[in-house]
Amino acid sequence: MRNKELLLIPGPTPVLDEIYDALASETRGHTDPRFVATFKNAIEQTKEMLQTDGEVYVVAGSGTLAMEMAIVNTVAEGEKILVISHGYFGDRFTPLAKAYGIEVDVLQSEWGKRVDAKLVEEVLATGSYKAVTVTHADTSTGVASDLETLIPLIKAAGALAIVDGVVATAAMEENMSKRYGNNPDHKIDIVLTGSQKAIGVPPGLAIIAFSKKALQARAELGQIRAYYADINNWRGVMDNPSTYFATPPVNLIYAYDTALKIVLDEGMDNRIARHVAYGKAVRAALREYGMHAIADESIAAPTLSCILYPDGVVDADFRAGLAKRGIIIAGSLAHLAGKAFRIGHMGNTTPEMLEQAIRQIGDVLQELGVQVNSEQAVTALKAELAVTVQ
Ligand SMILES: *Cc1c(COP(=O)(O)O)cnc(C)c1O
Repeated sequence: MRNKELLLIPGPTPVLDEIYDALASETRGHTDPRFVATFKNAIEQTKEMLQTDGEVYVVAGSGTLAMEMAIVNTVAEGEKILVISHGYFGDRFTPLAKAYGIEVDVLQSEWGKRVDAKLVEEVLATGSYKAVTVTHADTSTGVASDLETLIPLIKAAGALAIVDGVVATAAMEENMSKRYGNNPDHKIDIVLTGSQKAIGVPPGLAIIAFSKKALQARAELGQIRAYYADINNWRGVMDNPSTYFATPPVNLIYAYDTALKIVLDEGMDNRIARHVAYGKAVRAALREYGMHAIADESIAAPTLSCILYPDGVVDADFRAGLAKRGIIIAGSLAHLAGKAFRIGHMGNTTPEMLEQAIRQIGDVLQELGVQVNSEQAVTALKAELAVTVQ
């Protein structure tokens, strides 16, 4: 492994040597047939990962650009969306949509909790929403959304279901051909993500898939107030990557293509199970240290956890102690800053990395005067990992 440090923040995530190698390929022209073949393959693999019969777009940018593409290509000025927010990233859809003159209603949960599905149903019944945004896992709180419940409600209300998968895609189920409930039309309309989270590529790609229904919504809008973010400008390139609209990030696409091969070789079912095990294992181990996630285990995300500090542990000291040992974790956002830390456990992260992190966290806690038993924590970690990861 080329990495010298363990990057256990909720993105970017550890990059494998194979992916670095792909990134360091000789840069070719974006219309060179050899690159075009790779780009085509990356697009096909994206479709396969998301099981979409619609279209995918892979462009230079970050997850936020993909969020913007989802909104601006489906909702017109003056139309209304509903934002279901479980934290900081859910909230981001509000100013984003308002910037385009879109009306926004928001259902916000308390941080660490989920929005009540009953409330979603009630609000959907009162308004006419063009689209509803759901953050599959909110990276500020470690809360996962319940798509099984939400998608049928959203679709029954006639809205487009937009799923922000930035910390979920390639780790949690986002199967766009899956029917939720009994109605064959109750499917996810848009999945959007970035390269640097559960896919495990360095930051720099915005990735988004549109269902046929979402594409129809784009067609009905006609001219939109966007240019780079207008999927109509990218359609030709995605159909035939030897054509030009704006220069694609050639090397990142080499890396992305390699990462997707790793994803598909592992298989989405295996990956989903592995991430469930990772989430449970990390939280079980940290509980042995007296550290608890802000989200109840029943709604906790498989890809990252937001963990409250025990009394007396200072955020800056804790994270600096870990950084000295080569383990990088993240602080928390907004009102949780200083009170909790966030640890990513996704993508190319291995059980060995998680064990190393748990041991080092134990050492740092000891150093900070908290009595802990690392062996017990590692045993708890391994017990959960053993369920699905050999
Ligand atoms: C990271 C993240 C984003 C923002 O992605 P950027 O790549 O930082 O623009 C949006 N939504 C979620 C859920 C995220 O985790």
